[in-house]
Amino acid sequence: MRVIVMGAGIMGVSTAWFLLNEGHEVTVIDRQRDAALETSFANGAQISVSFCEPWANAGAPLKILKWLMRDDSPLLFRPHWDVHQWRWGLSFLAQCNTPAFERNVAQLVALGRYSHETLKNLVATTGIEYHRLERGILHFFSTPEGFKAEVKAAEIMARHGVVRQVLSTEQVLSVEPALRPFADRMFGGIYTPSDESGDACAFTQALARHCEIRGAKFLYGRNIVSLEAKDQALVSVTVRDELPGQRQVVRGDAFVAALGSFTAPLLRPLGIRLNIYPAKGYSATLRLKRPETASMVSMIDDDRKIAISRLGDHVRIAGTAEMAGYDTSLNSPTARVRCAALVNRYEELFPGVADTSEPHFWAGLRPSTPSNIPYIGRSRLGNLWINAGHGTLGWTHGAGSGRALAELISGHKPNLAFCFMGH
Ligand SMILES: Cc1cc2nc3c(=O)[nH]c(=O)nc-3n(C[C@H](O)[C@H](O)[C@H](O)COP(=O)(O)OP(=O)(O)OC[C@H]3O[C@@H](n4cnc5c(N)ncnc54)[C@H](O)[C@@H]3O)c2cc1C
Repeated sequence: MRVIVMGAGIMGVSTAWFLLNEGHEVTVIDRQRDAALETSFANGAQISVSFCEPWANAGAPLKILKWLMRDDSPLLFRPHWDVHQWRWGLSFLAQCNTPAFERNVAQLVALGRYSHETLKNLVATTGIEYHRLERGILHFFSTPEGFKAEVKAAEIMARHGVVRQVLSTEQVLSVEPALRPFADRMFGGIYTPSDESGDACAFTQALARHCEIRGAKFLYGRNIVSLEAKDQALVSVTVRDELPGQRQVVRGDAFVAALGSFTAPLLRPLGIRLNIYPAKGYSATLRLKRPETASMVSMIDDDRKIAISRLGDHVRIAGTAEMAGYDTSLNSPTARVRCAALVNRYEELFPGVADTSEPHFWAGLRPSTPSNIPYIGRSRLGNLWINAGHGTLGWTHGAGSGRALAELISGHKPNLAFCFMGH
């Protein structure tokens, strides 16, 4: 079958790889000049199978209400006159209860495990290098209340088979000695040794090259402007070439929409309504001045809800979420506050370790669903498949989502307990 994959982020590229494995002819289209230049570019770098709770839980509405007025809050909801934003917000509230939480966690854990296995096999097969560190993820706490709440969360996750080690501050320091300067302000930690970290962009770009070697065609610099359907099937995709400004029609037997946050608006004219809304997040990447004293274990600073991951001789600090539309600019007052907060916190935790004078700031749009469950499967147009809406966990779930969708397209049932769209 000739399959057209729309989007060359982690979802599109991993789907392309597994479609090639299934013997299909693959063309990938993206508006950027290379793979992984939008949301998969500079994320928190964590393969976080064991820390996968959805945002929506019984306590979330009160917490978010308290954060509403703070520019530096971890989750910021900026109401717009946008029916899609309000629809998303109301659906999110409907997920804020314990039965929905338990249901969603079970699916996220299943997808996470499947994806982790898939990623390991993929790395073993291809030998891709992406600053991978198999050292687990360590959450550390600055308040006893925060620690207590997460110990409770660890008990809940244990029911789903997720192993989290509860650590004293001394034990935290033996896992990650680089945290010693912060020890007197720390109240324990939670450690998941089986998690890992690595550069999603480096991985995705390398995988795209491997796909090309195996015969996939990549049409970069092509902006998809419309999708043409006939008789309950998608027939073609119209793209505009950014340079000469020409239009081109790309035809295929099957199509995959893996366009991150832009999947929902692009499919809307076809009557396909996906509840995906962008949650803007930021990262700062700093060069390490003293790499020998910098952390190696990927971490979450629970107080600030930020991820800190070592990537070779750099460190990435990422986090915060803003539900405020599709803007990725870095120069608004809120963006400036948020970017500065990432660097300042790193310096507070690890004084003098990184060069904070030339941070590389970035913002990306997490393609978020109210339940955190992505759309993977078939749309109501029989030959249009979807792999989008992975929110905070797209890097973690990338390899597995790509494999599962390629299996579905090829008529096989993926071996995991997950509610696939249209199945
Ligand atoms: C601050 C931050 C930190 C994060 N940290 C982590 C983490 O630690 N672990 C984790 O698992 N996940 C993390 N994530 C989430 C993860 O990065 C995303 O879920 C994932 O990158 C989404 O991948 P995607 O392929 O769906 O989207 P994208 O990477 O955005 O890919 C979509 C592609 O579609 C293309 N496209 C869109 N519209 C068009 C169009 N009209 N025409 C042509 N091409 C188009 C884009 O150019 C893009 O390449 C983080 C996200 C953010 C923002």
